Amino acid sequence: MDITFLGAAGGVTGSCHLVRVGDRRLLLDCGMFQGGREEEAHNRDPFPFDAAALDAVVLSHAHLDHSGRLPLLARRGFRGPVHATPATIDLARVLLRDAAHLQESDAERENRRRLRQGKGLVKPLFTADDVEAALRLFRPLDFDVPADILPGVRATLVPAGHILGAASIVLDLEEDGRRRRVAFSGDIGQDDSCMLPPPRPPDRADLVLLESTYGDRNHRARAATHEEIAGVLESAWEAGGNLFIPAFSIGRTQELLTLFAQHYDEWRLDRWLLFVDSPMAIQANTVHLRHDHLVREEARPLFAGRGLRERLPNLRETASTEESMRINSVRRGALVIAGSGMCTGGRILHHFRHNLWRRECRVMIVGYQGEGTLGRRLVDGAERVTIHGEEIRVAAGIHTIGGLSAHAGQDELAAWYGAIEGRPAVALVHGEARGREGLARRLSAAWGVQPTLPRAGELIAL
Ligand SMILES: [Zn+2]
Repeated sequence: MDITFLGAAGGVTGSCHLVRVGDRRLLLDCGMFQGGREEEAHNRDPFPFDAAALDAVVLSHAHLDHSGRLPLLARRGFRGPVHATPATIDLARVLLRDAAHLQESDAERENRRRLRQGKGLVKPLFTADDVEAALRLFRPLDFDVPADILPGVRATLVPAGHILGAASIVLDLEEDGRRRRVAFSGDIGQDDSCMLPPPRPPDRADLVLLESTYGDRNHRARAATHEEIAGVLESAWEAGGNLFIPAFSIGRTQELLTLFAQHYDEWRLDRWLLFVDSPMAIQANTVHLRHDHLVREEARPLFAGRGLRERLPNLRETASTEESMRINSVRRGALVIAGSGMCTGGRILHHFRHNLWRRECRVMIVGYQGEGTLGRRLVDGAERVTIHGEEIRVAAGIHTIGGLSAHAGQDELAAWYGAIEGRPAVALVHGEARGREGLARRLSAAWGVQPTLPRAGELIAL
């Protein structure tokens, strides 16, 4: 029995770990590398195992950095089951189809350029057909229901509180009468999310694979974050223009809607025209409605029946391009949530072209903005930005809200581990050097363990 770290080992994307039990092999996650060109080129590397000979995959959650290479796995011959919660399957369907569409249109655009330059053509990383082939392999597995997925492998999914359906994966392995339990955290959410119940650590394990995205720091307290948001809403209204919130369509958008419903009167949201201007976010809203039993009890009325309509009567979900373009004629009082989360594409760019140069408008940044993205340039105070090839002056006010992460901070990660019986061996994954080293120091000070910081390709025997 052993486990080999193949991705998110020294970085935060490409989550993928290979577990071997006797002659059986299974993967925990099969995620995409994201970030710069160099990072993303690794998505085209051959898998360091025979995809056709792989027996199963267990998927922690739908985010592409955990699920995004499943279409490639299917294309390269994998025919086994992909076990995931029903909500993860529904969200992965939305995300993977959208990703295929993007891959195909990016390749088309690149090929038009290459034709003009007389260069060879490129292929999309994967196609819509690859995605459908992968989706056919999904097998629903509910939380807390142990399943014997292979001889000698029992899998149990437990809530991880990160996005809807997100799980930590507990594997009970048996080989020649020897038993070992591996617990893979997946991505762990914050304890006090307004929408999801807190993550639940497994009771015991022999080896823990723990994420460490924010292993070196804590988030700003929830109450202070809410006060900040209230302040931005008030000043945006006073300024007399529109307010734009770039947000990831899955997770962050629904969390914002939950917050808005909970503070509707207090934040005087009735005076705004609320828009969710993203086809993917609208589909994700529907997935949340279908799995409303997975959200926190307080948030459930919003995602049950006509909850969204009743709790946010001024909310409009604008799916079509025409409806989206009509928002451009609103000069004042529009509060628009639109993708993409880091302003690297999507409808938020159209809104920026129409509004960023207006000093009475405001932008509220609610998520992490990666190096080199338009969102990061706005946060850093750029006076001019280029959108769709056109230079735009930034006169609108830019506000950054720090505390809304879908990831646990250092204290919460340390507490999650500390709740597991017997201080098991722990390997830190899904973190940059700072996050991993910060969490390693913290765990060692608090619990006296020496965490392993595996590199890609490294193996731990069980
Ligand atoms: Zn995630």
